[in-house]
Amino acid sequence: MSDYLIKKYAGLTPYVPGEQPRDRVFIKLNTNESPFPPSPGVAAAVEKEAGNLALYSDPECTDLRAALAAKLGVKAENLLMTNGSDEILYFAFSAFADRERPLVFPDVTYGFYKVLAGLIGVPYTEMPTDETLAVRPEDYAGGRRTVVLANPNAPTGLSLPLSTIGDIVKNNDGVVIVDEAYIAFGGESALPLVEKYDNLIVTRTFSKSRSMAGARLGFAVANEALIRDMNALKYAQNPYNVNRMTAAAGIAAIREDGYYLGNCARIRETREKTAAALTELGFTVLPSDTNFLFIKRHGLDGAGYYAALRDKGILVRHFDTARLKSHVRVTIGTSGQMTRFLEATKEIIKEKEV
Ligand SMILES: *Cc1c(COP(=O)(O)O)cnc(C)c1O
Repeated sequence: MSDYLIKKYAGLTPYVPGEQPRDRVFIKLNTNESPFPPSPGVAAAVEKEAGNLALYSDPECTDLRAALAAKLGVKAENLLMTNGSDEILYFAFSAFADRERPLVFPDVTYGFYKVLAGLIGVPYTEMPTDETLAVRPEDYAGGRRTVVLANPNAPTGLSLPLSTIGDIVKNNDGVVIVDEAYIAFGGESALPLVEKYDNLIVTRTFSKSRSMAGARLGFAVANEALIRDMNALKYAQNPYNVNRMTAAAGIAAIREDGYYLGNCARIRETREKTAAALTELGFTVLPSDTNFLFIKRHGLDGAGYYAALRDKGILVRHFDTARLKSHVRVTIGTSGQMTRFLEATKEIIKEKEV
């Protein structure tokens, strides 16, 4: 810390992203990226758009929003495009949460919520998940609060049914943000509720299911008034938040959606096979609606298992907190990668004699 950092940020705890190692080739199952490359049209669109980089990007993302609106069956006015979906969370927390409408989210969820609340300086309450790490819906209904729920949730992979999400939205006086980063892999989307409720924001990302984590593209679907409020923040902060190449990539990806739906189906199939194999090996595997599995095994501590896999060239994610430290989170890769992962796991069980 320099002598110049202002007091407000002295205690800031940053989000710790999963490793992106550069020294060695790993099988990377640690940050929930897609194991498949973007569709062919994406590379072509990016290359073409590179010729226009002298000009600022379109702050309205007109073409991208039109393509996405048509795909989702919503109006362009219901969409806000952002630099990754993390940016929407920033706009939404800033616009809709304060001391009078504090944030609530589960104690086991995406770690970024807490970090962002700290940055913005909004009070938050973490509602305890139950002994199975499931969200308890009754904790989120009632009152004037800003609710944030990842559905399906991370790092557990568990999801709440649409009827439950609907009840939470209906019975809350504040804004409810449903983070659907993983919805392409399972669970029920809250998108049909956007028309019905003026306090619901659904956020999605091209990072996981659309193989575009490096492009940084996310979006919000909400009632027009909420989108206008968040747009005001965007124009105050960074009007050109989505760059030209990313917008072009997004349009191409929407056009080639069939490719991605095929990939998601393969990932779901590989997930179920991997889960069955892990269960066979004595693991407890949470039922997952995502592109990852949250697992633990009696006699195998999370940190040790993580380190042993790393030694064998496989990266997974370990969270060193009281409730999560016995687990690891494993992103579903290609079926070949998962075979390698299962072999390594068998070796580790044998080596450790557990
Ligand atoms: C990965 C992830 C995001 C962020 O995605 P970006 O669009 O890459 O910023 C948001 N929410 C959850 C729950 C995630 O796991």
